[in-house]
Amino acid sequence: MTTGQTQLFDTMTRSKRLFEPLEPGKVKMYACGPTVYGDPHIGNFRSFVSADLLRRWLEYRGYEVTMIMNVTDIDDKTIRDSAKAREPIKEFTQRYTRSFLRGLDALNIRRATANPRATEYIQQMITFIQALIERGAAYVAEDGVYFDIDKYPDYGRLSGMDLTQAQTTERMAKDEYDKESVEDFALWKKSTPEELNRSENEPGLAWDSPWGKGRPGWHIECSVMTRDLLGDTLDIHAGGEDLVFPHHTNEIAQSETLTGKQFVRYWVHIRHLMINGKKMSKSLGNYVSFDEVLAKYSADAFRYFYLGTHYRRPLDYTDDAMKSAEGSAKRLENTLDLLEATQKAPDINLDLGLRERKLLDEVEKYRSSFEAAMDDDLDSHTAIDSLHAMSGAINEYLTTTPNKGVTLRAQRTYHSLLDALGLFEKRGGGADKLTEDIIRTLIDLRNQYRKEKNYKSADDVRSRLTSLGITLADNAEGTSWKIERK
Ligand SMILES: [Zn+2]
Repeated sequence: MTTGQTQLFDTMTRSKRLFEPLEPGKVKMYACGPTVYGDPHIGNFRSFVSADLLRRWLEYRGYEVTMIMNVTDIDDKTIRDSAKAREPIKEFTQRYTRSFLRGLDALNIRRATANPRATEYIQQMITFIQALIERGAAYVAEDGVYFDIDKYPDYGRLSGMDLTQAQTTERMAKDEYDKESVEDFALWKKSTPEELNRSENEPGLAWDSPWGKGRPGWHIECSVMTRDLLGDTLDIHAGGEDLVFPHHTNEIAQSETLTGKQFVRYWVHIRHLMINGKKMSKSLGNYVSFDEVLAKYSADAFRYFYLGTHYRRPLDYTDDAMKSAEGSAKRLENTLDLLEATQKAPDINLDLGLRERKLLDEVEKYRSSFEAAMDDDLDSHTAIDSLHAMSGAINEYLTTTPNKGVTLRAQRTYHSLLDALGLFEKRGGGADKLTEDIIRTLIDLRNQYRKEKNYKSADDVRSRLTSLGITLADNAEGTSWKIERK
C-alpha cells in the first residue's frame, strides 16, 4: 500500500489537491453527524456513505484514520420535536441515536472511532465561548452570547461570499439559516421561560453558565468536539453541501479565532440526494424513509446505488435507479459466489497456461484502473466500471476448469476492492464445515420429530432456524437448506 497519491476536491480552494496529512501516515478526519430528532432519512445517508467511502479509501491506501462523527442531541429541532412528542429530550434523542447507529450498521458504514454527543461537552463549550469573549470576538446580548463576524476577516470564504463591504449589526438566534442572513450567530442561547419550565424535571435541556441558564448553539458543538478529540487542525472535515453555510462557515470563524491556526486542511462536501428529480422534504410529501428502502431492496443494492454516482454529482433516488442498482450489485456478487464455489471444486487444472496468464493480467489491469479512479477524488462511478470489467474477466475464466491457485489470487484482489467500497460484507452465503454439520443434525432431528408426528417440536426447530436466517425446503429428495442473504 502506498500513501500520497490521492487527490481530493477541497471546497475552500475550489480545486483538486493532492492529499497529504499533517502527520505522515495518519489522518484526522471529522464528519458532521446527524441531529437526532427523527428517523434517519436516505438523504442524510448519502453524506454518511460518502464519508465512509473516503475513510475506507484512505485506509486502503495505508493510512491510519481517526474518524469522528458527532451526534447533535441538543439544538432547536431536538428541543422543539421532543416537546411535540411529549417525551423527555434525553430519551427522545437516545432513541433516534440508536436508530441512526442501526442505519450505519445496515449500510456497512464502518463505525467511527468515536461518536461524541454534544451534551457531553457542555463545560468545554462554555470555556471555549469564554475565551472568544476574552478575545473580543464574542459578546453577551439579552438572549445569549453571539459571535461578532466582523472580527473574523475571512468570514464567508468557504462559501465564496463577498463580505468585504458588509458591516453586520444584526443577530441570528436560529441554528439554521440561509445565505441572505449573514449575521452574528449564537454561541450560547439563554433558556426561554418555556425551556426553563421543562428543564426543572428534565435533564439535558439547560445548563448553568456565566451567562445564566441555557444551552449551546449548534455550530459551537462541532468546533469544541473536534478540538477536544482531534486537536486544533484537522486533515479532513466532511459533510453535506448544505452545511457549507452557515454551519461550516461558523465553525471556521470560531475555531480559527480561538486557536489562531488553520482549522481544516481539506474541506469535502457531498451533494444533496434528490427524490424523483425533486429535493426531498416532509412538506413536499416525497419523503422516503430508510426502512422503506430496505424493505424493498437489499442493503448492498442501497449502498451500490449511492456509490454508483460520484459524490459531487447529482444523484436522484427513483425505483428504476434502485432496481438497476440491485441488478448490478447482484452481478458483482455472483462472481464472488462463483469464486467461492471454485475453491470447493476438485483439483484438476494445476497449470499456469495462457488463459491463466491472461486472467492475471486483466485482474492487474482493472485493479490499477480502479485505484486510479478512486485516487481521482473518489470517482467511485468509474471505479465500479473497472470492477465490472474484472468480474467479467473472472466469470469468463471460470467457464472452463480453473486453476485454484490462480483463482485465489484473482479472488483476493476482487475482494480487496469490494472491501474498499464496503460491498457484500454481510454475505450469509457461506457456512463452514462445522456449521453445515450442525444444521444437518438439526434437520435430521426435525425429520425424526415429524416421523413421530410431534409436529410442534418439528415446527419449533424450523422456526428457530428461520430466525437465524436459515430456511428449509422440503422436497422429494429430502430437506434442503440455505442461508438467506439479508
Ligand atoms: Zn458540524
